[in-house]
Amino acid sequence: MNRIRLKDKEFELFIPESKIKEAIQGMAVRIKEDIKGTDPLFVGVLNGAFMFAAELMKELNGPYQLTFARYSSYKGTSSSGEINEIMPIQVPVEGRTVVLMEDIIDTGFTMEFVMNKLRNAGAADVKLATLLFKPEALQCKLIPDYVGLSIPTDFIVGYGLDYDELGRMYRDIYKIVEPGK
Ligand code: 5GP
Repeated sequence: MNRIRLKDKEFELFIPESKIKEAIQGMAVRIKEDIKGTDPLFVGVLNGAFMFAAELMKELNGPYQLTFARYSSYKGTSSSGEINEIMPIQVPVEGRTVVLMEDIIDTGFTMEFVMNKLRNAGAADVKLATLLFKPEALQCKLIPDYVGLSIPTDFIVGYGLDYDELGRMYRDIYKIVEPGK
């Protein structure tokens, strides 16, 4: 499919599944090397990172602990600026190496909030793995440890990412088409 429609918006194919998988494989190699000798806790950030987390876990294929957490900041196609903790991490993090798995970093405020919380809770090390990164949209001093693909600031859907809760199950990633194009 080259184009999809979700409610009032049109999207065009942007990143095919094969490229996404290749990026995740590269991330897994680096993560595996870095977590050697630690007892890491992997945290998938719902809802958007569910596909990325599943794929990364399959690539790591190891004895690691996995949990999920959920925050919300987005309304429609833009960040609301206010972060709500809907489902906190329910595993003690004190002394642990925590690897956060996020779908996309836009302003960076969500992950900055979560990483600060984890550090305050006594995590020994907090690493951030994001499938997608919009460097031009970043509004804080966040440096992700592992980035799958860096992309421009366009709004995207698919591979876990939604538009008004629709479109998460597409296996490829689509980019919004501005009206008239
Ligand atoms: P940040 O706090 O970095 O601005 O936003 C992070 C969250 O905003 C992501 O977890 C994701 O849910 C949402 N987000 C940011 N950019 C996009 C995008 O292009 N498409 C979709 N569907 N969600 C996005």
